[in-house]
Amino acid sequence: MKTKGKVSGIISNLVTVEVDGPVAQNEICFVSSGEVRMMAEVIKVIGNKVFVQVFESTRGLKTGSDVEFMGHLLEVSLGPGILSSIYDGLQNNLKTMEGVFLKRGEYTEALDNTVEWHFTPLVREGETVRAGSWLGEVVENSLPHKIMTPFKFKGEYTVKSIVGEGNYTINQVIAMLTDREGNDREVTMVQKWPVKVPITCYKDKPRPFKIMETGVRIFDTFNPIAEGGTGFIPGPFGSGKTVLQHALAKQAEADIIIMAACGERANEVVEIFMEFPKLDDPRTGRRLMERTIIICNTSNMPVAAREASVYTAMTLGEYYRLMGLKVLLLADSTSRWAQALREMSNRLEELPGADAFPMDLSAIISNFYSRAGYVVLDNGKSGSVTFIGTVSPAGGNLKEPVTESTKKVARCFYALAQSRADSKRYPAVDPIDSYSKYLEYPEIQEYLNTTVEENWHDRISESKNIILKGKEAAEQINILGDDGVPLEYHDRFWKSELIDFVILQQDAFDKIDASTPMERQKYMLDLVLKICRTHPSFENFEECAAYYKNLINILRQLNYSEFKSEKFYEYLDELKI
Ligand code: ADP
Repeated sequence: MKTKGKVSGIISNLVTVEVDGPVAQNEICFVSSGEVRMMAEVIKVIGNKVFVQVFESTRGLKTGSDVEFMGHLLEVSLGPGILSSIYDGLQNNLKTMEGVFLKRGEYTEALDNTVEWHFTPLVREGETVRAGSWLGEVVENSLPHKIMTPFKFKGEYTVKSIVGEGNYTINQVIAMLTDREGNDREVTMVQKWPVKVPITCYKDKPRPFKIMETGVRIFDTFNPIAEGGTGFIPGPFGSGKTVLQHALAKQAEADIIIMAACGERANEVVEIFMEFPKLDDPRTGRRLMERTIIICNTSNMPVAAREASVYTAMTLGEYYRLMGLKVLLLADSTSRWAQALREMSNRLEELPGADAFPMDLSAIISNFYSRAGYVVLDNGKSGSVTFIGTVSPAGGNLKEPVTESTKKVARCFYALAQSRADSKRYPAVDPIDSYSKYLEYPEIQEYLNTTVEENWHDRISESKNIILKGKEAAEQINILGDDGVPLEYHDRFWKSELIDFVILQQDAFDKIDASTPMERQKYMLDLVLKICRTHPSFENFEECAAYYKNLINILRQLNYSEFKSEKFYEYLDELKI
């Protein structure tokens, strides 16, 4: 029997309901306003008074309206057909609708149940399986999509029957599993999972120990992110966040890209919605969208849907991770998500924390980030969700609660600096303020030493040191003037410029420079460090500047040339070092 209730009060999207039975925290319900039936989530329960957050505008809703409780939490459908989809935070399929925006009270099927998928079984009758075990496989946009034992199944099951290779729709029964008590359970290719609960059907979740290559030098060479790691990018408007995200999506070593667009202004969301599908996939030569899922909030969706979207995105990421795939989850921006949390908490009149964010903001952010990670599956294979979120701190204030809380949990920090963007030094990631804590992990150092080069870690420190010294020298030159400092200061300054122009700056719009494989990154850093270790003597600071400017020009040409091509070696000869 479903619990029913009547609306007793309305404060914007927060609706109070008098109920006639038990209700669970975060349970989903439907509020009926005349012809419109709107989805809502329980956010507080006090006796028979329940507070629900409606995912729609409550315009015209009257007290006394009927509410029906569904007995489950906010869930997503998991099955083949998710790739290439554009969903909203409630997994409504926006592509099936006219334009971007759904009408009020309109919900669509997340997955198409008419499509037939070619299923190949991976288990035999009599085998023992448990939640997450691979029962079979279909091909989804040329990627293997595993059909797994539903994650809600507890304990061990025996495969009683499994269908043969053939074409099936997601709702057809593909296997019958028997539990230890002898009860049979049917399995189809689709299952549901509550978005706010992590899917933990894996054997182990070790600390990340591999680097996820991105082709972006300022990431890979300077502050690499680990596969299954977490990072965040705070940055003011116009500082190159979008270009950077596109570069990561296109180039990172990931099988699946999930883009969670959490927007306040509709135009920002529409931008992602329009631009992403146009991106080419450098790996396949086809569209990147074939291995991408976009979760975006439409402008008519209120705070609760915005809050849900990042969880929906993470749940989809965890699903693909259990298939042994590498997932890169990008969220833009997590500040909007935090603002949604704030609005909800304020409406509930909870005691506010810093800047009126919920008191447990830190815990919420930390719990969310901890869902990312590298996992070892029961069958020995591995999968990962790497999470990179952007933060848009109001007024560029990095001391505000969302940035601070994120900084505590995210292991990589990529500070986009306005000053770098203003001087067109792209990507505008600040080399001094940014960091990757993965570089401190012994297993990552070992990984870099074996896969890139022995003592690679020392080279990174050496380069960072040159940049730091260059910055100090530049400050002195600024204060004392070109002639007021020893020539040595000019030399230091130009050495840091050399690293900046040749390694840090990268043209996202150049066919060759846009993505640099690790082998080439190593080659270039070694070359630049070799120059930095020399100490040519100069007559005056003009001669020093001319010397380094010439080197920078040649090295930039190298960056634009095919690696180890004839042209590349021609420029290398010009260096004369
Ligand atoms: P944001 O999303 O932070 O508002 P964008 O990513 O749209 O900023 O970047 C603003 C502009 O900066 C871009 O239109 C582009 O001209 C320039 N830009 C950013 N990053 C790069 C890059 N790596 N290479 C070349 N130009 C860039």
